[in-house]
Amino acid sequence: MPKVWVFAEHRKGRPDATAFELLTRARQLGQAEAVAFGAGASKAAGPLAEYGADTVYIDDNPVYDEWVGDPAAEALRRLVAEHQPDAVLFATLPDSREVAGRLAARLGLTLISNAVDIRSVDAVRTTMFGGSLYVDCRVDDRPALILVRPNSFSAEPAPGQGRVVPVRVEVPVELRLVRRVEVCEDTARGPDLAGAAVVVAGGRGLGSRENFELLYELAALLENAAVGATRAAVEAGWAPPAAQVGLTGVTVRPRVYLAFGISGASQHVAGMRRSQTIIAVNIDPGAPVFKIADLGIVGDARKILPRLIEELRVRRAGRQEA
Ligand SMILES: Cc1cc2nc3c(=O)[nH]c(=O)nc-3n(C[C@H](O)[C@H](O)[C@H](O)COP(=O)(O)OP(=O)(O)OC[C@H]3O[C@@H](n4cnc5c(N)ncnc54)[C@H](O)[C@@H]3O)c2cc1C
Repeated sequence: MPKVWVFAEHRKGRPDATAFELLTRARQLGQAEAVAFGAGASKAAGPLAEYGADTVYIDDNPVYDEWVGDPAAEALRRLVAEHQPDAVLFATLPDSREVAGRLAARLGLTLISNAVDIRSVDAVRTTMFGGSLYVDCRVDDRPALILVRPNSFSAEPAPGQGRVVPVRVEVPVELRLVRRVEVCEDTARGPDLAGAAVVVAGGRGLGSRENFELLYELAALLENAAVGATRAAVEAGWAPPAAQVGLTGVTVRPRVYLAFGISGASQHVAGMRRSQTIIAVNIDPGAPVFKIADLGIVGDARKILPRLIEELRVRRAGRQEA
């Protein structure tokens, strides 16, 4: 049975949702094990075991939080040499990308990036050309090093043995190269975009910041709804970068994705195509977004949005009176 490792990012012991997604897939592929580094890592062991980790390698040393990339890559290299996993899975998150790239260079192996499915430790599906092409790759390297896009798998708990193995790696001074000086909270409002049940997204077609603000009003009227944006809307300054959905932004997989004034460029679609139901409002009947939409409305989003908000308010008031 292949041994599949997950490099689990966490914040003060709280694993990122991607760690649970990757563990869910890892335990379907073989024996799932996790690695967590940095302050509070030991607190992450319990939750990681709940999602199937049989073994969790832990190093609580805060050196990994302060110095980006190299310390974790070197510690991982040593663990890989000792325990010989068949694959190491990383989520496509800024820190994990650093670590994965540096580990691949140290081991002289290929790093498979942009993975959206792992069929076995040697068969991985990735995307190319802004998400417009799928590529099935055969991976002969051991371990297979795979960077997976968030939301590629649904996280489902199933307890593993959760054996905790503390590790302590001395990190030499020459590996302390890039220091993290500040951590800024993202400024997106409302629930976490990647995990929201409904995403209300807007693009350039909304025409102004005032119109874009209507998305927040709409989201507030829906349950567990977050606001997303295209890169054009972010560049216009209507939404913070953390709200960008797509190839270079967040990957979402909500029950419903509402797209207002969004053309449906492949780079945007790469981050939302796996939504269960896509509803698009666009003034142009030929807009590419209609090719992937389950429900398409040809119309002016600037008129439809306020009417939708009004309708939901009326319904909500009716429910409260009843
Ligand atoms: C390397 C790279 C990475 C990228 N990464 C991303 C990414 O992660 N995410 C992302 O979103 N983009 C990304 N892009 C940019 C992407 O290619 C598109 O430029 C962008 O998604 C377009 O945003 P948009 O749909 O808001 O704007 P546009 O393409 O300009 O579309 C606006 C749409 O609004 C419609 N419209 C106009 N007026 C109205 C109205 N009143 N009512 C309704 N509809 C109206 C128009 O018909 C049009 O379809 C990337 C590009 C590159 C090169």
